[in-house]
Amino acid sequence: MTPLNKGSHHINGAHVEDTAGRPIDLVYPATGAVVGRLHEATPAILEQALSGARAAQADWARTRPAERGRILRRAEQILRARRDEVARIETMDTGRALSETMYDADGVADALEFFGGVIAGYSGESLQLGDALWYTRREPLGVCVGIGAWNYPLENAGWKSATALAAGNAMIFKPSETAPQAALILAEIYAEAGLPPGLFNVVQGYGAVGEALVRDPRTAKVSLTGSVPTGKKVMGLAGSLMKPGTMELGGKSPLIIFDDAPLENAVSGVLMANYYSTGQICTNGTRVFVQRRIHDDLVARVAERVAKIRVGDPMDPDTNMGPLISAAQLAKVEGYIQSAIAEGATLVCGGKRASVPGLEGGFWIEPTIFTGVRDDMTIAREEIFGPVASILAFDDEDEVIARANASALGLASAVFTENLARAHRVAGRLEAGRTWINSYNVSPVEVPFGGIKDSGIGRECGIAALDHFTQVKSIMVETGQMACVF
Ligand code: NAD
Repeated sequence: MTPLNKGSHHINGAHVEDTAGRPIDLVYPATGAVVGRLHEATPAILEQALSGARAAQADWARTRPAERGRILRRAEQILRARRDEVARIETMDTGRALSETMYDADGVADALEFFGGVIAGYSGESLQLGDALWYTRREPLGVCVGIGAWNYPLENAGWKSATALAAGNAMIFKPSETAPQAALILAEIYAEAGLPPGLFNVVQGYGAVGEALVRDPRTAKVSLTGSVPTGKKVMGLAGSLMKPGTMELGGKSPLIIFDDAPLENAVSGVLMANYYSTGQICTNGTRVFVQRRIHDDLVARVAERVAKIRVGDPMDPDTNMGPLISAAQLAKVEGYIQSAIAEGATLVCGGKRASVPGLEGGFWIEPTIFTGVRDDMTIAREEIFGPVASILAFDDEDEVIARANASALGLASAVFTENLARAHRVAGRLEAGRTWINSYNVSPVEVPFGGIKDSGIGRECGIAALDHFTQVKSIMVETGQMACVF
């Protein structure tokens, strides 16, 4: 198991290194060991990335969409062939189980396939208004900045770049400093697929590098996945420069289980909403509202199934929960667990560091359930980003909707019920960018994804995402006499 070790950045079609940049250590979350080192982009590296992207974009914008799509679909095929290698790198960076990172590689291949396919048919509209013909063009924005979070680094790089490139833009992508390698492999794959050099450049760095890219007058847009405070900062900066931003930020999503829901399905929902990716997913349904009549049965069954979660070596294909990503994240999650105990919640299971023989230095935590959680407790209000479920009892529909919506965040939500009318009524009333009915944490690339309120602006995935990577120009052709008041 070795890190990529080919150079920190990928610019104009090749790996590049400049060791003058501040070091970025690669830590394997399952052992806590430093396994490699990259370097932050220096101003010279950023200049290469910006000028290269700028030079390449104009021709790319003129390339027929079907041809752009063909290159993306070639990248899809290469990624599918290199799935195992890509997933291992992703697991090394994030500690997420290989069973999950394989699935992520497939998801990014799906994105390349989807955007590579639909772009040929994506266009403006035409309107005949009397003697005037109007038509619109969906024009690329130029050089777009992508900034990734650490929990889904491959997906962040893949979703953003597939959309941006399909639409005729170039992208400079800055991965999270905590999980920087997947984007480098993706850049290799694009190069192998025949993407002209400069169109997808990867530069490493901490927040300041992201900020420098947004600030540069040669960039036209920023798409960020990250926390709410970072999103507000980046959107504020982009706004001050009149650049559009797509912000995919945090969540504190409600998962509502009515007492007519099939119990086992609802339990599966709770598990997928709290323990997948060791709870490090923005859409997680960590506020589990359970109707009082079934509360005790549901908690008992969730605890039984949580006991069967296989926490262990993330490189073992049978593992379904790896460690947290970092010592800092472990300390943060433990802090939330302590706060819940101090504020009077009942610990049903978990709450301690998990012990994994042979991997003692890793950032392990047990899957945890709290009951007796009140809406005002810290764990019910703040994003934990760890495998900690809060179970809250409720009595009726209006009450639970009011409580579910009493959050500054609005990323995802779910309702479990067999009552068709209630399912759709509740889905319509929940303040969130997405609602699952009788399911959780499914995110196909064909469907627009993103948050409302503090959870973000704009959408990734689906045709909607292409709208956010293009601008509309309207053109008028007068075929009769031009109107003139003079
Ligand atoms: P973070 O906000 O700390 O960092 C995100 C990225 O922003 C990193 O690459 C970081 O280097 C960069 N950054 C930091 N300051 C910056 C600045 N001033 N200018 C430009 N870039 C800057 O987030 P994180 O800890 O990496 O990720 C976890 C967060 O991401 C969670 O809140 C989670 O909910 C959210 N997330 C959201 C989604 C979504 O699609 N909505 C998906 C995954 C994660």
